[in-house]
This record gives sequence, structure tokens and C-alpha cells, in this order.
Amino acid sequence: MTKLFLDLKQMKLNTLKIYVFSVFFIFPVLLNAQSVEELLSKADQYKASDPEKFQHIVQQVENNTIDLTEAQSQFLDYLKTFSLITEGNYQDSISRLEEIQDKTNVPKVKVRSLLSLSNIYAFTKQYEKAFTSLNFVTDNMPKISDPELLNVVYLAMANTYLLTNQYQLSQKYAELLLDQIEDDVLRCRANHYLYSSILNQKEFQSLDYKKIEEIKALCVETKQSVVAYFLEIAMIRAHIENVETQLKETDWRQFKEGLTVILADSQGVHLKSLELTIQSLLAKTSFMLGELEAAETLAQAVINSKEVMGDNQPKLDAMEVLKNIAEQKGDYQLAYGYLSELEAIKDELMADNQLKELAFLNVKHASLARELEIEQLNKSNKILKIEQQLAQQNAYNQQLLVLLLLIVLGIVVVWLFQISKRHGALVKVAHLDHLTKVYNRSGFEKKVKEWIKLAEQSQSELHFAIIDFDHFKQINDQYGHLTGDWVLKHVIYEIKKHLNEQVMLARLGGEEFALVYLNQSAQMADGEMERIRGIIANLDLTASGHDIAVTCSFGVTSAQVSGYNLVSLLTHADVALYQAKSAGRNKVIRYQA
Ligand code: GH3
Ligand code: MG
Ligand code: MG
Repeated sequence: MTKLFLDLKQMKLNTLKIYVFSVFFIFPVLLNAQSVEELLSKADQYKASDPEKFQHIVQQVENNTIDLTEAQSQFLDYLKTFSLITEGNYQDSISRLEEIQDKTNVPKVKVRSLLSLSNIYAFTKQYEKAFTSLNFVTDNMPKISDPELLNVVYLAMANTYLLTNQYQLSQKYAELLLDQIEDDVLRCRANHYLYSSILNQKEFQSLDYKKIEEIKALCVETKQSVVAYFLEIAMIRAHIENVETQLKETDWRQFKEGLTVILADSQGVHLKSLELTIQSLLAKTSFMLGELEAAETLAQAVINSKEVMGDNQPKLDAMEVLKNIAEQKGDYQLAYGYLSELEAIKDELMADNQLKELAFLNVKHASLARELEIEQLNKSNKILKIEQQLAQQNAYNQQLLVLLLLIVLGIVVVWLFQISKRHGALVKVAHLDHLTKVYNRSGFEKKVKEWIKLAEQSQSELHFAIIDFDHFKQINDQYGHLTGDWVLKHVIYEIKKHLNEQVMLARLGGEEFALVYLNQSAQMADGEMERIRGIIANLDLTASGHDIAVTCSFGVTSAQVSGYNLVSLLTHADVALYQAKSAGRNKVIRYQA
């Protein structure tokens, strides 16, 4: 422990050297961009441990001639709030930090100001706000890519959790940080939080005193004097709390010596809470050494000091000393008075601890509820997505169904069309004579009735003839029935070449055919029939393999003469045909009424 005090003295000397050096050598040098960055990180390093040096560096940055970048100037603004913090002006520092964290878009400044806020909130007993700010940082932790910034986050978490009695969490973050850092300053501070949290959990058996001595030395080396002081104090307190009854006078004397040196050294850092802590512990050691007067003076100084935020422990310790002194002096009435005050402070401490716990639980609840809410939101998003997918699937299915129906409908339409076409073809075939491919009797009757009706409606001319092959029996007899068929087929084929839309040719049966002219004069119709008769008579039928000649007789009448009536047209045409036959055949004869 003596080594530590020597180290501390050495450190103070070094600090002074640096200070002198910086005042006389650094300050007048014109800064470049590189040194601005260096100065800012130096200011960051000293902001809590050496307020004077910190102020000086800030001054240097502000006096420099180079324009700061936006990020640098915001970071400087952030650092400057520490002047307010060390002055104990928490209210103003809170409003400044809130403003900075609200406005900034520099991740480092945002995170750092939030962390500082959570720290001051904890210090000023606004525990819920402290935990909420911390949660905000932890929520955004996965987004922090800068490893240095992440280290600062871990460190601040360990500190705030320490201040709010969440010792296990504080320990966890300190260990997390120690796992991944090389930097000595950070190692000093992280170890301080680690051991403080272990001490506060009263797990004295897991304390490695040798290791703690090493850490203290490291803190001294890296000029983290305040941290070294606090570690030293924590060690003394651990000894007292853990093995008080086994402590010998030499131990107490050693404590007193150590504390006296720290008290003197720490004057420079102007940390009231540190001073009161040391004074209260000194009061206790003085009492244990039987120096009642010194003990009482120190304890009274602590009790009478102005309220120090965030820490009731020194007053508790001091009150205990005063009570013990009164007891020892036999002034039980006074002792009782101190005892009840002691209880009051203990109650206050307890209430504060309860507040911390409650705030932690509340915020934990709130964040849990938020996590649940997010989870719920994710779930409903998932449901929404599934619903959308289903709707899409449904729409797709419906489209598919419609498409399918259209295809089926298309097939049906095509099928119906085919059927109707085939039906039409069938109908046509049914009305056609298979040999000559002109209307057969039924087709003829159907069609000719339509024509008669049409002609009757418009009172148009309609000429009607029956064609009968002459002596056809003989052809059959002479050349055979098949040749007879061929001749019939061939002659009709030739006649068809000379017909148009207004003329209908049909097979009435056997070798008898009908020829009907619509909307044509008698002269035109007679001329045409005469022409056809001539064509037939002059047809070359040698293709049949025989030297055949064939003629036809035409018995003609008209609707004007016979009336718009099929039976009478047939009858009168037949009469005329008979006359043609009688007149020597191969003739066109009109019916004479
Ligand atoms: P006409 O000049 O007086 O009419 O003498 P025709 O021999 O033609 O006498 P008719 O009209 O009475 O006889 C018709 C003959 O035509 C009888 C039949 O053998 C023949 N015939 C009728 N239909 C067909 C047929 O589809 N094919 C063949 N090869 N012969 C037929
Ligand atoms: Mg006949
Ligand atoms: Mg005949």
C-alpha cells in the first residue's frame, strides 16, 4: 500500500510536468487538423479526472485557427458540458446534454451524450430516466460499428449500473469490456467498476487483492488518479466490512496513513463526494485508533457538509462514528439521538435503494413490454403478410379459375361450332343427292318452297322445269347401270357449270331433275334452258368408255302461269314434259294453260 502512495505522489508530479509543458509549449503552437483530433481525445480523457487540465485543453481547441468539422464542433460542445458537471451544476448540464443528443446526427456524439445523461440522471436520482437512456443506447448497440465507441458504451453501462445498485449488470459490462481491450486507461476504469460491483455484492472471497494492487498501479500510471483513489477506498472499506474484528492496530494505522495521503492529493480534483468519503473513513479509523477528538471533528465535518447528491454512505459512516463516541463517553442520551438520526439516514438510503430497484423494474418492464409489443407487431406483420399472400393466392386462383372457365368455354364454343358446322354439313349432306351432289327431293322441296314464298311476296318471276333423260332405260340396258350412273353424274356436273345463284338444280328421283329460275324473265330462262339442252346433246361422253350420246327433254312452266304452288308447278311442268317427249324429245316445251 505504501507503494501506492509513492506512486500517487509520482503521478501528481508527472501531471504537473505535463501541465507546465502544455502551457509553455503546446499552447502557442498553431494547431493542425491532426492535433485538433488529438486534443479532443485528450480532453475526453481528462474531462472527469483532471478538470483544470481539461479546461485548458478545451481552451486550446477553441483558440485554434483551423475550422472544426461539424462532428468535431459537436463533440466539443458535448465535452464542454463536463465543466458544468464538475461544478455540480447538474440541472444545466442535463438540459445541455438533452439538447445535444436531440439535435446531433453524429453517432458518437449521440451515444456519448445519452450515456452521460444516464449517468447524471442516476446521480441525481432520476433513475427511470437513467435506465431509459441506457436502454436507448443498448437498443442501438447493434448499429454501433466503431469499436472505440462501443467500449465507451460498455464502460458507461458499467458505471450507471453501479450507481443504480445493479451490481451484477455492472460487473457483466465491466467483464465484457475487459475481454476485448488492450488500452490501459480503459482497463483501469473497467477494473474499478468490476471490483466495485464485486465489493458491493459483498463477495469478498472472490476478491483478488494482489490483482487490485496491480490495477491501482495501472491507474496511477495512466494518470487516472480519481479512479485509483476510489479503488483504494473501496479496498479499505472491503477490509473493514469483511474482517473488521480481525483487524489489528497496525492495519488501522495503515488505513489512516493511506487515507490521509489520498485526502491531501485529492484536494486538486475538487470532488466533494470523494472528500467526504475519505473524511468519513478517516473518522472511523481515528475512532478505532482511540483518537476520539480527531474522529469527532472529522465526523462532524461530514455531517455538517452541504448535501452531496447521490451518496449517503459518508454521512451514514460519520453518524455511526459519532454514535460510538457518545456511547464510549457514556452519553447514552446523545448516542440515542445519533442512533435515531442514523436510522433516519438508513431509511433514506433504503428508500433510495428501493427507488433504484423500482425504476429498474419499471423500465425493465417497459422495455419488456416494448419487446413484446415489437414481437407482437412482428407477428401481426407476419399474419398480415400471410393474409396478403393468401389474398394474392386467392386472386391468382380466381384468375386461374376464370382462365380455366374461359378455356372450357372456348372449347365448348369451338365444339359447338364444330357440331353446328358438322350439323350444317350433315344437314347439307342430308339434302344432297349422293350421286350428283345437287339437292335431293327433300332438299329441293325445302328450298323451292322458300323460293316460291320469296317470289310470291315480291311477285317476282319464277320459272320451273322438269328435265327427263331421253330413253335412259336404253343406256342402262346397253352399257350397264354403272355407266348409266356415270352419265347422270357427268351430265349434271356439266350443267352445273352454267348455273348461278338465281338458279336451282335438284334431283327429283331416277333420271328426272328440276330446274328453277328466280327473278328472271321467261325469255332469259328459256334461252338458258335451250342452251343447256344443246350442251347436253353435244356432250362428249367417250370418257365413259363408250360412244354414248344423250339428250334431255324439258317441260317448263312458271309461277305466273301455274301459281306460287309447288304441286301445281310440278304437275304443269310434267304435262309440258310429256308434250316434249311426245314431240320427239330433246326439246324445251312450255306448259300452255
Ligand atoms: P323416256 O325417254 O320416255 O323417258 O324413256 P326412258 O327410258 O327414260 O323411260 P323412263 O323415264 O320411264 O325410265 C327411266 C329409266 O331410267 C328407268 C331406270 O332404269 C333408269 N333409271 C332411273 N334412275 C336411274 C339411276 O339412278 N341410274 C341408272 N343407271 N338408271 C336409272
Ligand atoms: Mg323418267
Ligand atoms: Mg326418261
